Amino acid sequence: MADQIVGPCLGQEVGWTDLSESHPPAVRRAHNLCVSCPLLQRCRADLDAAIAEGRQPVDQLWAGSFFNENGLRVSGRRYGVYPPKSQRPVKPAAQAATAAA
Ligand code: SF4
Repeated sequence: MADQIVGPCLGQEVGWTDLSESHPPAVRRAHNLCVSCPLLQRCRADLDAAIAEGRQPVDQLWAGSFFNENGLRVSGRRYGVYPPKSQRPVKPAAQAATAAA
């Protein structure tokens, strides 16, 4: 009954659409659900087909990818999915290089 599997986005708008109006925690939650969705591969194929047909996603999250108000694929950083560089943990190799300098 694989065809009865539905994505967590079904019936949801918060975090998937109107990204420019959404709060980062909602987008972060949606993105986490989206990238672990059992339909992700099929959804990516649907996304590629839509783009090939000229149906460019706008201001939404689709198959783990973010599209801004102009339909450009952008990083999740734009919507607060990833913390700013200054708040990310420092990798041990980077710490060693900093200490050696
Ligand atoms: S992978 Fe597709 S079906 Fe699954 S949550 Fe994301 S947009 Fe929805």
